Amino acid sequence: MLTLSAPGAEARERIPLPQPRPATAPQPERAAATDKPDVGEPNGGPQQAETAAPQPQAPSACRLALTEQIAIAPSIPDITGPGGCGGTDLVKLEAVVLPDGSRIAVTPAAILRCPMASALAEWVRTDVAPLASSLESRLAALDNFDSYECRGRNRQRGAKLSEHGKANAIDIRGLKLASGRLVSLTDPVSPRGVRESVRQSMCDRFATVLGPGSDGYHEDHIHIDLAQRRNDYRMCQWDVHEPMPQIAPLLPAPRPDEAPPREVAADQRQDSNRLPQQAQPENAPPEQAESEQGEQAAQPGPPPAAKQSKAKAKPKKPRGERHSERR
Ligand SMILES: [Zn+2]
Repeated sequence: MLTLSAPGAEARERIPLPQPRPATAPQPERAAATDKPDVGEPNGGPQQAETAAPQPQAPSACRLALTEQIAIAPSIPDITGPGGCGGTDLVKLEAVVLPDGSRIAVTPAAILRCPMASALAEWVRTDVAPLASSLESRLAALDNFDSYECRGRNRQRGAKLSEHGKANAIDIRGLKLASGRLVSLTDPVSPRGVRESVRQSMCDRFATVLGPGSDGYHEDHIHIDLAQRRNDYRMCQWDVHEPMPQIAPLLPAPRPDEAPPREVAADQRQDSNRLPQQAQPENAPPEQAESEQGEQAAQPGPPPAAKQSKAKAKPKKPRGERHSERR
């Protein structure tokens, strides 16, 4: 065993190792930051460093490609968090730069692995920016709801580590326009064409797209990530809701067969109330009439004295009413 390990030990002596971490080093994450290129999980210790990091300071291919012509995305130190959280080759994506040089901010700036930041930038440049022509004003920003965060999926305790914990995901609520308006991606009121286009382009580019209708956790934002799964399995789960509310409007219940004739019913209601009631339109169903009366009763009206004297003299006619049953 000694003979096998000796060459390794010699090699370690020859290869310059990182300086010992000073006792005053602030954070383990910071200390591990500067010498990790994009080579996978850097938890193998010095022996892995020998074979996997011949050029400790070399930027990744992704980093080299993600220029300031494409995105404002400065590199940040690697993060080594608990439970497998963290990542290497991280950037702080502050803005995406369009081919014409204009910028679409990411607010707040998103902490992402370079490949995810790069994919996001490409998506914005190619697929999102053109949507501005169908909106009222220029696209100003992506509304970043969450990027890197060390947590389980859907913030559930004990759940599998979220792609957010690997800086491999971002949640987006909407598109901010230069006019100040936020075009929510999950609001049925937002232009449906825009939401459809965003959904399609996201599902084309990202491994996971979760929105309304997926699992109950994504009703107010869209989650996208670059999770790697067996056979490149992809998830595209986002129901683009109809512009009209899904819930049917509250209609009055059908009038039951045993209900008394309308005039009788109206008289009974009036007899049971002290104040004279306003007559209802003849074609108004009794249930609707009741709810309207209830609302009127709950609304602050004129002072009681004025109301009473006025009521004795002559009931106030409702708007648009041509007659009252009680005169
Ligand atoms: Zn998410």
